[in-house]
Amino acid sequence: MQEKGLLIVLSGPSGVGKGTVRKEVFSQPDTAFEYSISMTTRAPREGEVDGVDYFFKSREEFEQLIKEEKLLEYAEFVGNYYGTPVDYVRQTLDSGKDVFLEIEVQGARQVRKKFPDGLFIFLVPPSLSELKNRIVTRGTETEDVINNRMNAAREELEMMHLYDYVVENDQVDRAVERINAIVIAEHLRRERV
Ligand code: 5GP
Repeated sequence: MQEKGLLIVLSGPSGVGKGTVRKEVFSQPDTAFEYSISMTTRAPREGEVDGVDYFFKSREEFEQLIKEEKLLEYAEFVGNYYGTPVDYVRQTLDSGKDVFLEIEVQGARQVRKKFPDGLFIFLVPPSLSELKNRIVTRGTETEDVINNRMNAAREELEMMHLYDYVVENDQVDRAVERINAIVIAEHLRRERV
């Protein structure tokens, strides 16, 4: 039987730059990971495309997916549902490819229970004020949403100890380099045992 792929989970507080880091990982022509596109009930932001950035769903559709156990994990984050399609993840891992999830911490916790052997990476900002700065300069959120996201971020930072690696996102290209290095090292470690 073909060896199973590695499940890589990138998590960290909202606004830390997970999305930017993930896009940079996947913009590399030689990337060996498969990205799992999430489902969400959040409205698309300008420029976001259904089936590329997310699968955009109504609340009813999302709740149906939960009922039918089509999600590996899901979480309600700042008033919207987000979740990972389970069939895609399992089939891709079974085909021997590495799957990359970019999700918030409640979801990462659920994945850890189902995939204890996954590789869990926590992205941190250089500081909380830098984090707020990033959310504000993104310019896509109202003040209420910014405050909710900052509160979520403080709680999320307390989850850091549940991860295998903590990577500081001081510069996107450096964070990506570190993530790639971690994955290479992890494969070598697993090949030995
Ligand atoms: P945003 O609305 O900024 O795109 O995403 C909000 C948060 O939801 C981010 O922290 C993002 O990583 C997270 N997220 C995106 N997809 C998923 C998912 O499938 N599951 C979970 N639990 N979180 C997700």
